[in-house]
This record gives sequence, structure tokens and C-alpha cells, in this order.
Amino acid sequence: MNTTQVKAFGTESAEADLKEVNINRREVLAKDIEIEILYCGVCHSDLHTARNDWGGTMYPAVPGHEIVGRISKIGSDVTKFKVGDLAGVGCLVDSCQTCDSCKNDLEQYCSNGWVGTYNGQDKHLGGHTFGGYSEKVVVDENFVLKVPTNLDLAAVAPLLCAGITTWSPLRHWKVGKGSKVAVVGLGGLGHMALKLANALGAEVTLFSRTPDKIQDAKDLGAHNVVISTDQDQMKAATGKFDLIIDTVPSIHDINPYINTLNYSGTLVLVGYLGPLDPFLNTVPMIMGRKSVAGSLIGGIAETQEMLDFCGEHNIVSEIEIIRMHNINESYERMLKSDVKYRFVIDMESLKS
Ligand code: NAP
Ligand code: ZN
Repeated sequence: MNTTQVKAFGTESAEADLKEVNINRREVLAKDIEIEILYCGVCHSDLHTARNDWGGTMYPAVPGHEIVGRISKIGSDVTKFKVGDLAGVGCLVDSCQTCDSCKNDLEQYCSNGWVGTYNGQDKHLGGHTFGGYSEKVVVDENFVLKVPTNLDLAAVAPLLCAGITTWSPLRHWKVGKGSKVAVVGLGGLGHMALKLANALGAEVTLFSRTPDKIQDAKDLGAHNVVISTDQDQMKAATGKFDLIIDTVPSIHDINPYINTLNYSGTLVLVGYLGPLDPFLNTVPMIMGRKSVAGSLIGGIAETQEMLDFCGEHNIVSEIEIIRMHNINESYERMLKSDVKYRFVIDMESLKS
């Protein structure tokens, strides 16, 4: 298969810094779209993958799944886009498209294995997929999103992961006017959850460890903030919420949050992947018919729905633009929760 070499930023091992690498992109096939990447958001999952926090990272690893750019080439059978259009790519670039999940617009739960934008199995070139920290990407048009043109493009990029990952549970659990929603952690995902839940009409609360973020949380759409390390504030929140979206990226005790669910309430984990410690106490769950659930990104149709909603409601991410070469220090800052509230790479900086 014909390929083009493009510049990218990636890492050769879990311990190494990211640096410039060359990768190959396939020439467009009939249904493919080539996108010149203008901006790429920096998700905590990029860091988890680069450093092999979850195991299974294939190297060289080129992260990035919050991609926006301009279409530079299309294949002969592409119908939904034309050259020059703005476009977005999120966490998925392929799936079987035939299983029950795919047929129900839930490609992220494809039973034959969806293909991640990075660290997935590249069906065309062999090896693994490379993400958006690169000049260009080639993706099947069914996995390309239309980007609202009335919004700041750089600030749209994080919607492709942080936006959809919080939108999907808000929609699945039917959040609307009068719903009482809480969000744990004010980072990339958390700040989008506040904005989206507020725009859906919910009464929104943030749980945070960080008192310095109280004013920001209110500006972002929280009606209330509970400092999660303050026992009195936690107690005062007992029984309050219908839905809690927990975005914390590392192992933590979820039991105190279960106490703040109303009867029939659900805590949905989107941040931490792995066994819980301490154990989950089922007593308050049984006594109050409460649920603990998980949720993975969102399907393509749902991602388009979220982007259109953001276009209509003027919702974008709060971003700090960085140069590609500053990615390693940005990862260190992300680990210290020192980002308000998403880094976005200006991909022009990769050219210089
Ligand atoms: P982030 O920007 O680093 O934000 C995480 C926030 O969690 C922090 O700002 C902090 O908020 C809080 N936090 C951090 N460490 C904590 C700790 N030890 N205990 C309690 N709270 C802590 O990360 P992100 O990009 O939003 O991603 C969050 C997680 O979601 C990552 O693990 C990422 O891999 C995962 N993710 C999952 C999906 C999915 O499909 N399920 C999609 C994308 C990302 P406060 O200062 O307010 O406490
Ligand atoms: Zn992500």
C-alpha cells in the first residue's frame, strides 16, 4: 500500500520523553479522508498510554485523540465531506460495523474490537495506529466528525474526547431539567461535564480536592462545590445526587461518594481503570438501590450530536495552547492538576 511519511511526536518507551519521530500514513482509499491536523488536545489518557500505565502500550507510541483540522484529500467514494472542510477525529478510527453494538451506534463497545486512534491495530498498514500528535491523519469517513464552524477551533478539539466522554453518560442516564448531577475532579473531563450538565438544565455540583478551583467551577457551570477532603461538607451532601460522574484518574475510595447518591442514583466511573481499593461496600447500594457503572467515550453519532449541541449552545473547552515541543513539561503539569483545563497543541509548531 502507498504511504506518505509525516512528522509526529511520540515516545519509544514508558520512561522516555516524547520527541520528534516519523510515521507513515496510508494514501487515501476510496472511503478515506486525509486531514491536515491544526490542533490536538492533550488527554490524560495520552499520558497513561505514553507511560504504559495500563500495560499494553505499543511503541513507538504517538498519542492524541482530540483532533481537529482541515481536509486535504478525499477518496473517490467519499460523500459526506469535501476538500477544505473542517473536520474532527476522536478516540475511534474504525470498528467492525456489523456487530450489535456497531449497528446501535455504540462503536466504542464493538464486540469485535474497535480501533483506537492510537495504540489500536492498524488494519491497513499492519502494526499499531498513531494518534494526532502529527501533521496528518487518514481516517475512514464514517469515523470523521463535522465540526461546528461558529466556535474557536482550538477549543473545539477537547470536545472529541473530554466532551463526548462526559456527554455520553449524561445522555444515557437522561440528565435534563431538574436532574441533580455531581462531577468528581475538575480537570479536562470534569470541566466539560460541568458545562454540558449545566447546559442540559441540571443542578450541578463539583466535588474537588482543590479549594482554589471553587470560583472557576462556578464560572464553568457548577451551582455548588463540595471540597471532598472536608468531612462536614461531605456529610452535608448525603443523599443528594441522581448521577455522579467520577473523572479521577487514579485509584481512590468511591464509598464516600456513594453516600451522596439519592435512592436509585448512579455513580459512573469514567476516570480510573482497574480494581478498586478500598472495596466497594454494597450495603448503601442495596439499601438505596444505587448503582456503580462505567462508561467509555461515546459512539460516532453521539459524538456528532454533542458537537452540534456545543455549536448551538456556544460550548467549548477552556484551553491553554502549547507548542508540540512543550509536551513533556505539559504532562508533568497535568500530573500536578496544573492545567486550566485542557492543553491543546498548536500543530503548526511541529513544522518549525
Ligand atoms: P485531568 O485533566 O488530569 O483531571 C483529573 C482531575 O481529577 C484533576 O484535575 C483533579 O481534580 C482530580 N484528581 C487527580 N488526581 C486525583 C486523586 N489522586 N484523587 C482525587 N482526585 C484527583 O484528567 P482528564 O484528562 O480529565 O482524564 C481523567 C481520567 O479519565 C484519566 O484517567 C483518563 O485516562 C480518563 N479518560 C477516560 C475516558 C473514558 O472513555 N472513560 C476518556 C478519556 C479519559 P481536583 O483538583 O478538582 O480534585
Ligand atoms: Zn481522551
